[in-house]
Amino acid sequence: MERTFSIVKPDAVKAGNTGAILSRIEKAGFRIVALRMRHLTRAEAEGFYHVHAARPFFGDLCTFMSSGPCVTMVLERDNAIAHLRDIMGATNPANAAAGTIRKDFAASIEANAIHGSDAPETAKFEIGYFFAGLETR
Ligand code: GDP
Repeated sequence: MERTFSIVKPDAVKAGNTGAILSRIEKAGFRIVALRMRHLTRAEAEGFYHVHAARPFFGDLCTFMSSGPCVTMVLERDNAIAHLRDIMGATNPANAAAGTIRKDFAASIEANAIHGSDAPETAKFEIGYFFAGLETR
């Protein structure tokens, strides 16, 4: 069993797609270990995306991620990190495969409906950034 961290991003929450996305995640065999809706401050978004601080889109990304409530969660299944990335689809929904979450729910390369950790070290950091050990037993 492996754990990953995911966010239903503000665009998808605002569009009323939270339930549909959570349903896809559960149908894909993930157990929801922990879940909480939050409206990130800009500073919280910047801390979460600190690895992207040098990218040209960092400012816009942090503005978007703090623009409304999102749903943060810890997910578990075998091969969780890679499998979630599979069902999410490519970063740019224009390049996402049919049937993926981003193909069906994302509006743009920035407002792309869902986040999923990209490696074990990032998953560990991201889970710890948002959830206390007590919440992820
Ligand atoms: P991910 O792992 O598929 O989420 O993609 P990245 O780690 O490369 O980028 C993190 C997030 O930044 C993406 O999910 C998008 O929300 C946003 N992003 C990535 N590339 C771009 C871009 O070229 N322009 C803008 N505005 N946002 C981007």
